[in-house]
Amino acid sequence: ELEGVLQEMSRTIHQNPELGFEEHKAQALCTDLLEKEGFSVEKGTGGIETAFKARFPLGNGQGPRVAFLAEYDCLPGLGHACGHNLIAGAAVGAGILLRRLAGDVNGEVVVMGTPAEEGGGGKVIMLENGAFDDVGYAIMMHPSTENLVGRGGRATVKFDIAFHGKGCHSAGPEKGINALNAVILLFNAIDNLRPLLPTDTNINGVILDGGKACNVIPDYAHAQFSVRVRTQAEGEVVMEHLRRVIRGVEQLTGARAEYVLEPGYAERYPNDHIEREIQKTLEELGEEVERAPLMGRYGSSDIGNVTLKMPAVHTYFKIAPKGVASHTPEFEKASDTPYAYEQMMKAALAMARAGSRILSDGEFRSQVDEEFAQQVKAREEAKKQA
Ligand SMILES: [Zn+2]
Ligand SMILES: [Zn+2]
Repeated sequence: ELEGVLQEMSRTIHQNPELGFEEHKAQALCTDLLEKEGFSVEKGTGGIETAFKARFPLGNGQGPRVAFLAEYDCLPGLGHACGHNLIAGAAVGAGILLRRLAGDVNGEVVVMGTPAEEGGGGKVIMLENGAFDDVGYAIMMHPSTENLVGRGGRATVKFDIAFHGKGCHSAGPEKGINALNAVILLFNAIDNLRPLLPTDTNINGVILDGGKACNVIPDYAHAQFSVRVRTQAEGEVVMEHLRRVIRGVEQLTGARAEYVLEPGYAERYPNDHIEREIQKTLEELGEEVERAPLMGRYGSSDIGNVTLKMPAVHTYFKIAPKGVASHTPEFEKASDTPYAYEQMMKAALAMARAGSRILSDGEFRSQVDEEFAQQVKAREEAKKQA
């Protein structure tokens, strides 16, 4: 019965894709269902209108708080090509299932709606505004082409830059300052930097504005870069290089740079103890689960920032055969199939059971906490080395 309700909710989200910070329908669908199940719901959590926090106290309510994170934003022009409709269904399902199977324990089941993962960084904003302060453990699962534990994610650096020059007729370029030249120099300088950058750094840029007419020297040019690095500490190193290069381009061209260059998403450290619990349930349900290296040329997500604050996981569950890439129309289709919804239910149960173990087993909980403490220590060491 719950299965049918969750699948319908997830399908409705899929059929009504909403961009980050505009997920009003998805928010209503999730919170209506949770309210019906006895959760008390707060909307607009952490200063984001389309966020929410739903709570269900267990026993006297004093004890560990386990949160399941629901994403529900879509991609511009591609609908739910990252399958966040399934993340929402799995998280809401996990909350409801944990409430039912928790038994005689003290603590709280929390389901949080975390908007705008695909750019916007809803979780980063919610963290900054204290929305995670009273949560002890964060659990979510993301659809993929395999069941995967152990995988981390890279950090990002936000980099957006405009150059202001001086426009003039292209017949007398010496009267102007060519802002496009500055952008082109910047691209070349970044290419020359690559040997100096930390391992696994990717920088990809696009020119968003390079002038309006070829017989006019552009007085303005605008570029944006996607920067991925293994850790935020390495991001600091990259930012230092970029600041130097920007100053050099200004000096060479006379154009003035106006830019944003700051840390974006943090790298991700999944909690292995929690992931092993999820793995156990998935395997009991007949799934094969693979283990990935922690670091690689991976993507980035705002769950990384959560993993710096508390034990957290972002485990992957299979909804499509290997080779179906996310962020494509094929993955959008794959996110709305009977198979995907079946897998979503397995993810919900696996997360609920992991949550139950955290709530009911103090020894397990201290292992989870100890692993997190070790990660914090290791991060401090890595920071010193970078
Ligand atoms: Zn995505
Ligand atoms: Zn995603």
